Amino acid sequence: MADVDCTIIGGGIVGCAVAAELSGGGFSTVLVEMEDGLGRGTTSRNSEVSHGGMYYPTGSLKARFCVEGRRLLKAFCENAGVGYRECGKLIVATEPAEIPYLEKLLARGLDNGVEELRLIETAELRALEPQVSACAALYSPRTGILDAEGAARAWARLAGERGGQVLTAARVAGLERRSGAWTVQVAASGPGRREGWSHTSRYVVNAAGLFADRVAALAGVDIVARGWTLHLVKGNYFAVSDVHHGRVDRLVYPVPPAHGASLGVHVCLDLGGQMKLGPDVEHLDRDPRDAGFDWRVDPARRHAFWEGAHRFLPWLRPEDLEPALSGLRPKLAPTVVVSREVGDLQGLVNLVGIESPGLTSAAALAREVGRLIGEADAA
Ligand SMILES: Cc1cc2nc3c(=O)[nH]c(=O)nc-3n(C[C@H](O)[C@H](O)[C@H](O)COP(=O)(O)OP(=O)(O)OC[C@H]3O[C@@H](n4cnc5c(N)ncnc54)[C@H](O)[C@@H]3O)c2cc1C
Repeated sequence: MADVDCTIIGGGIVGCAVAAELSGGGFSTVLVEMEDGLGRGTTSRNSEVSHGGMYYPTGSLKARFCVEGRRLLKAFCENAGVGYRECGKLIVATEPAEIPYLEKLLARGLDNGVEELRLIETAELRALEPQVSACAALYSPRTGILDAEGAARAWARLAGERGGQVLTAARVAGLERRSGAWTVQVAASGPGRREGWSHTSRYVVNAAGLFADRVAALAGVDIVARGWTLHLVKGNYFAVSDVHHGRVDRLVYPVPPAHGASLGVHVCLDLGGQMKLGPDVEHLDRDPRDAGFDWRVDPARRHAFWEGAHRFLPWLRPEDLEPALSGLRPKLAPTVVVSREVGDLQGLVNLVGIESPGLTSAAALAREVGRLIGEADAA
């Protein structure tokens, strides 16, 4: 008999939500996180937006998990006392030529099930956001912001209340399937822990974020043959000076650039009302997992940020912007992977390429993992 039913690798928002879901489903669980705390990976380096779900192709996994996930995330945060504010979002057209794009996005959003999405004209836009200059906007009142790290910790707490174990400073260094169960080798990886261990587990969930491809390879998945090698793309943010605090109440996004690599530099707000711009798209010459993570934001990018945002924030000056945080998107073409393995890798569930809207989708992804493992268990 295995020591535990489920091992979850990764204590980001997704792994923590999965641990809570599986513990609630009657499985014994162990969550293993290599950092000294939870939610320290991509979960704490992003825009913290609970997205509506209008950007993603109808019927795609991203659309499905985002729309379902937003509702679940909001309800969870409200119940658990995690910071969440439905501030709303505007996608603005700065010239009439951009309006057809908003119309297309509206149609797609409605098809995806995004609630209360509508086009608004200049007068209403001016009433909502007098400091934003645009000729029309797509308004999503249900889009929100949240304390993402807080949500990860709250899900981990819930997993603990349901009998699960949550272990930090512990890195999964080996995965081997033997005699009908996985042997999980764990190495100590932080000041709070001196020794590693190994345990057996009937199921393993790979929620290792930026390292999910490498964890899958550790388990024996041929990631090259499957096209699962992650390509990390940096996203930088600039903070907007506090002299502008309160000038904008909602998230404001431009019509995305034609290259389609990002949603465009937009106005993010945190729960304290601090405004920042970002993220942009910075392609890296070397994989930071080998070359070393460099989270610094190059001040030379300031002008491009200002140029992107001053089209709809005409009062913004370049000197109002200061380099702030950065994050890494684990890109996988063409989509995200949520897969339950069979055959020699039976019992392994992989979540690979969980980029935006990964925060928003966390609870829906957790439900899906619960469903996949529940089905396997019933077979
Ligand atoms: C710039 C940027 C902006 C974004 N904005 C948004 C947004 O506004 N809204 C939204 O919904 N999404 C957004 N996202 C996406 C979102 O942040 C991620 O999809 C989400 O945080 C992924 O969570 P995760 O738990 O999968 O990964 P992570 O938070 O990275 O967690 C994975 C964890 O696994 C651990 N780990 C890795 N390997 C091992 C191992 N071998 N053993 C043990 N532990 C291991 C890591 O330490 C890490 O803590 C954004 C992403 C970026 C980069």
